[in-house]
Order: sequence, then C-alpha cells, then structure tokens
Amino acid sequence: MKEKLKTLVDLQRVESEVATIKSKLNNVAYLLEGLDARVFDSEKGLEEIKTRLDELQKQYRLHETDIQMNQSRVKKSREKLGSVKNNKEYQSILKEIEDMQAKNSLVEDEMIAVLEQIETIEQAIRTKKSDKEKVRAQVDIEKQAIQQDTVQNQQRLARLETDIEKISQQVEPELLRKYRLVKDQTRGVAIAVVQNGVCQGCNLNIPSQMYNVLQRCETLTMCPHCQRIIYWAETE
Ligand SMILES: [Zn+2]
Repeated sequence: MKEKLKTLVDLQRVESEVATIKSKLNNVAYLLEGLDARVFDSEKGLEEIKTRLDELQKQYRLHETDIQMNQSRVKKSREKLGSVKNNKEYQSILKEIEDMQAKNSLVEDEMIAVLEQIETIEQAIRTKKSDKEKVRAQVDIEKQAIQQDTVQNQQRLARLETDIEKISQQVEPELLRKYRLVKDQTRGVAIAVVQNGVCQGCNLNIPSQMYNVLQRCETLTMCPHCQRIIYWAETE
C-alpha cells in the first residue's frame, strides 16, 4: 500500500501543479486587458489635456480678433476727430476712444493670463507625452514577459499532462477511482499526510488508536474528519 500511496502522492503533486498552471493561463487575458487599460488611460489623459489646449488657443484667437476690431474702431474714431467741428462731439469721440482703449487693455491682460495657462498646459502635455511613452514601453516589456511565460506554461502543461497519464496507468483502477472521488469531494487535495498525529488536510488530530494501522500502511485509510486518504509521515 505504501508504494501505491506514493504514486498517488506523485499524481496529486503533478495535478496540483497542472491546476496552478491552468489558473495562470486563465489569468493571461485579464492581465493583458489590464495592461491595455493602462495604455488607454495614459492616452486618454493626453487627449483630454490637448482638448483643453485647443480651447485656450481658441480663446486667445477670439481675444486677438476683439483687439483688432477695437483697434480699427479707435483708428476710425481718430480719423473722425479731424473733421469734427463742435467741441461736445469732439469730447464724446475722445471718450469713446478712451473707453475702447481701456477695454483693449483689459483684453490684453486676459490674453496674458491665457498665454500663461497655455504655457502650463504645453508643459503638462510634454510630461504626459513622455509618461505615455514610458507606459507604452513598460507595457510592451510586461506583455513580452507574459507571452514568454504563457509559452513556457503551455509546454510545461503538455508535459505534465503526459505525466498524469503515465502515473495514472500505474495506479489500480479501483484506487484511482477512489482518489478521483475524494478529490472531487475535497476540492483538490485527496491525499494528506499525517504529521505528529495531525491530518495535514484538515489540521485535526487523528485518534491515536489509528496510529498502528496508519504506520503499518496495509489498507487504505481515510481521515475520520475530512475523509481524505491519509498516510503516516515517514520519519527520517
Ligand atoms: Zn483530515
């Protein structure tokens, strides 16, 4: 029975590695999605800030047009001044000119403020662009690593599946059937070692009257608590 159990322990070890590899392979799509999302986010951040720059530049051009219009009005008013005869009208045109110039000076102040914002945003765009490149490069490296891992895992998986077939053939069909049954019921760990009187499958004490049977290892023994196949730990 000892040899048979050893084979089962081997089988369980290989199967558990297969389960780990399969879950890694299943996770690949999720990891790749996460990486794509990182690239997407950095691109989106850049696009948003570029839109803001467009808005500011538009605002700046509108102010420019405003000023040009005001300036041509001022010019016209000045021309009018030359032909004005009466003082009242003269004063009123002068006032008009002053108002327009005051308005222009306000718009110019605003333009300076907008220019400052544009400079800040252009700096931010340069930073975001370089961030985006960094993210992209980092993501490429990570994707390559994932792809290499995946290839290796797939190869390892194929080898392990062959191993499982070979080992399974060494186990008596009845024992294999029992092992599979317990494995289904215990969600993975069908065979557990008993160390210092404790079943390592469920961490509960094995009744001491079972020690002898376990140590002799002549029959298939189950843990009375978790129903796993158990065997006595070999002492070196
Ligand atoms: Zn147990």
